[in-house]
Formats: sequence, structure tokens, C-alpha cells
Amino acid sequence: MTPVPPAEKVGAVIPAAGGGERLPGPVAKQFRELGGVPVLHHTLSRISRDGLISCIVLALPPAELSSIELPDGLSMPVFLVAGGSERQHSVANGLAALPPMVEWVVVHDGARPLLPRGLIETCLLAAQETGASIAALPMTDTVKRDDGREFVRETVPRNELWLAQTPQVFRRDLLEQALSMASDKALEGTDESALLEALGIRVKLVNGSKFNFKITSPEDLVLAEACLARQEKAGTAFLSPGGRN
Ligand code: C5P
Repeated sequence: MTPVPPAEKVGAVIPAAGGGERLPGPVAKQFRELGGVPVLHHTLSRISRDGLISCIVLALPPAELSSIELPDGLSMPVFLVAGGSERQHSVANGLAALPPMVEWVVVHDGARPLLPRGLIETCLLAAQETGASIAALPMTDTVKRDDGREFVRETVPRNELWLAQTPQVFRRDLLEQALSMASDKALEGTDESALLEALGIRVKLVNGSKFNFKITSPEDLVLAEACLARQEKAGTAFLSPGGRN
């Protein structure tokens, strides 16, 4: 199996420029407190702890650029950029700020603070075959499609369905190509993988973790507090065993 690329060739882009409209409050969700520090501090600390990447580009709301406080003890440079109106614009701005030697990009949502140990490595390894991999979870609930009037139109077979997470790992040139194609064709994806898929790139699925959820609603913050407390007590960082196959 192809080994993980050396850390100096791997950089992370953290989109953290959203307004967090689904979680009302005085500050956006990535800046809300979790275990006494901002959500984003957990994300940055976890993304940098495995020694697999050499730098981070953080995309922030423009108003936060001058006041952001980073966690202590990050062992790598963190470059700040202004995010854009859509997530993919924030990622594009971050990508442009990565140093030239970076050939592999780990995109991870700022709002996923409970990134499990080992998941970046698994995604980096899985991306070596086609240049793209994403963490995802097989669907376990039964899936319904509605008819637009809140009645069930049909039950959708779930055996091929996965819920996409981050990290998403891409060869830099492929991600650049995908973002530039999306900009030319005014294509919008809710993740970057969707843009590579549109280019015809095969994206490898890696089993993620239920604990790697995105803070979206007020309930998620409550759940994240409980998970963090449990992880700190157990001294572990939860990685679900096995995928669908
Ligand atoms: O909005 P959503 O929950 O999908 O956001 C996922 C991540 O993308 C969050 O960390 C959010 O801050 C970031 N984002 C961004 N720029 C935007 C919208 C979202 O960096 N314009």
C-alpha cells in the first residue's frame, strides 16, 4: 500500500467562515464554547496533533480576522484568510493560501470539533489510489422521500447511501481543477467531494465516526459537551470500527 505522503507535502484547509444561522446566538457556532474553549480550538488542536500535516489555512468571517485567538501549543503555522459567501469559496480562498510545496489537502469543517484520532491518516492513505477520499457513515435509518407536502412519496433503499463528513482529502491539483470548474459553470456543492465527482474523479469512502458530527443545532452543542467529557474521562478519541463492508 502507498504510504502517507510526508507531512511537508500535506496541508489543511479549515472552512470556518459560516454564519451558523441554524444555531442562533451572539457568536457563530465555530466560536461557541465547548468544554470552556471555542469549538474551533478543539478542531485546530485535533487536526494538528497527529504530525501528519505541516500547516493550516483557516478561513474566517472577515470581521474575525483581526481578533481571532488561536489555541496555545499548535506546532505548525496557521495562515488566516477571509472566507467567501459559500463554503466552497471559503475553501478556494484557503487553497490559494497554501504554500507551494503542499501537494495533498485535508479539508476539515471548523464546526467538527471531535475529529477522532487516526481518521486523517486513514483518509490520507485511502486518497492515494485516485487522489480523493472522504470520511462518511453508512446510513442506518430508513430513508424516506417526501412529496413536497410532508407525506411520504417513497422509501429509498439505504444500502448504497452514506452520510458525508470531513476530513476530505484531495490531491491539490484535482481540488484546484474542481473548484475552477465549479466557478466556470456556477456549480455549487455542499462539500468539495461533490465537485470532484462532477469532474469524474472516483472518491474513496472511509468509515468516519458518529462522534465526528458537525455542530449545527443547539442540541449538537449539548451532545458535544457530553462526548467531550466522556472522551476526556476515558482518554480516548472514538473511531468507529468497520464500515458497511
Ligand atoms: O454551513 P455548514 O454547516 O455546512 O458549514 C460547514 C463548515 O463550513 C463550517 O465550519 C462553516 O463555518 C464553514 N463555512 C465557511 N464558509 C461559508 C459557509 C460555511 O467556511 N460561506
